[in-house]
Amino acid sequence: MDEKVIERLAEIVGSEFVLTAERIGPYLYDQTEACLRPKASRESVVVRPSGAREISDIMKLANAKQITVVVRGGGTGLCGAAIPIMPSIVISMERMKRIIEVDEKNFIITLESGVTLREMNDYLKKNSIFYFPSHSGDENAQLGGLVAENAGGVKSGKHGVMRNNIRGLEVVLPTGEIVQLNGKLQKNNAGYDLMQLVIGSEGTLCVVTKVMLRLYPEPRFNGTILVSFANFDQATDASTKILQTGVVPLAIEYLDRTIARKTADFLHEDWPLKRGKVDLLFVMAEDNEDALFNVGGIIEEICSSSGAVESVVLDGRDEQERILNIRNSTYYATKPYLADTLDITVPPASIPGLMKGFNSIAGKYGAVFDTVGHVGDGNVHNNIYLVNDEIPVYYEEMKAELYALAIGMGGTITGEHGIGKTRRRNLAVQLDETQVDLMRGIKKLFDPNNILNPETAII
Ligand SMILES: Cc1cc2nc3c(=O)[nH]c(=O)nc-3n(C[C@H](O)[C@H](O)[C@H](O)COP(=O)(O)OP(=O)(O)OC[C@H]3O[C@@H](n4cnc5c(N)ncnc54)[C@H](O)[C@@H]3O)c2cc1C
Repeated sequence: MDEKVIERLAEIVGSEFVLTAERIGPYLYDQTEACLRPKASRESVVVRPSGAREISDIMKLANAKQITVVVRGGGTGLCGAAIPIMPSIVISMERMKRIIEVDEKNFIITLESGVTLREMNDYLKKNSIFYFPSHSGDENAQLGGLVAENAGGVKSGKHGVMRNNIRGLEVVLPTGEIVQLNGKLQKNNAGYDLMQLVIGSEGTLCVVTKVMLRLYPEPRFNGTILVSFANFDQATDASTKILQTGVVPLAIEYLDRTIARKTADFLHEDWPLKRGKVDLLFVMAEDNEDALFNVGGIIEEICSSSGAVESVVLDGRDEQERILNIRNSTYYATKPYLADTLDITVPPASIPGLMKGFNSIAGKYGAVFDTVGHVGDGNVHNNIYLVNDEIPVYYEEMKAELYALAIGMGGTITGEHGIGKTRRRNLAVQLDETQVDLMRGIKKLFDPNNILNPETAII
């Protein structure tokens, strides 16, 4: 990177907040599997601004000199979106950690986008009667990254994904303007909804500097039920039937037993279910005890009539958290052996057909393959494993078949992790030319010189 640019960056943010050479190492990669992630450019420079004004000055400098900029949140992304693949100014949001306000009358928290999910949740636990239900699997993710990826997670069944819970944003455009999008409103029909356009745009349209989120009263009664089945047909039949009754648990998670066991072993924990081959984890959150018993009763009854072979009601918060922690750790337990983890999503009622199709495709390739996921949302994570520590030869072909299967069911190739840099070549199976042209036009309007995270999210 040009020395003059580095000097100017030091003037903007202070020289102690500009990193170069070997000090940039930790900012170059995210959590994408090492065998898949693109190579990062070591010619990059990392800056750590303290606020939107500094970011605006950085963007003006980069735009004038046409230097690529990549925004970095917590680095927990799974599709290489935050990796600077060309010499770039990497803007790390880690210093922007102010929790600005908890407005308990409007149920809204306003914070800077560098606050992590863990920091926000800890703050709310200590200081508020409210909580934020949306929980993507790694609490080191920052709010800005969760907005940029429109993250989901295990608790989206009841309260939706990030998109459903974001009320307002402050953003800095690639040309340097600072813009407020929406706010504490429940309704706003003035013009196009630019905020929704920014959500899920993977750091390609603007830098998110502030976030307003909708909060919820902490549910007073929580319960967790684990149920096992002989096969996925029975499990998915049960989850579909439960949703048809109108009961909406906080989460319905599906786990192949192979993954549940692997993860429990990894954590030196015990997985309570012994019979059957696949498990459903139901997390319930209700306002009163009667409602909790009622929902629990419906779940147990339907599971039993769908062929459940074992079920355990988890007593006490510690035991519930222990099991949820096993579910949330499946990724790190399997990561050393993974070639890729997909996040295909279909309409929830199509899940049984999708799972059947997965097994037949995996069988055809002789692949070691297992599944965990948010079946209540129609979203599953399929693990494709390394073979002799290498990406299997069938990887691309098999993935293309899995994607085609999902698209044929009205699904998407990504319901959570995004396109980033690793899935751009697969995007064409889902989007037609008209859609791609519209997306390119939008990108050009926001970012006329294509400086912000190019070669990401769109084709
Ligand atoms: C163990 C594990 C489990 C996970 N489980 C889930 C899950 O259940 N559901 C789910 O949806 N995801 C899940 N993820 C993926 C990941 O947590 C999300 O993609 C998260 O949203 C990334 O946030 P981050 O701050 O780490 O962003 P990063 O990885 O740093 O960046 C991701 C993208 O966001 C952009 N970005 C970051 N901050 C900003 C900002 N302030 N302004 C503009 N752009 C920005 C970056 O440029 C990049 O394009 C999981 C990841 C891991 C490692």
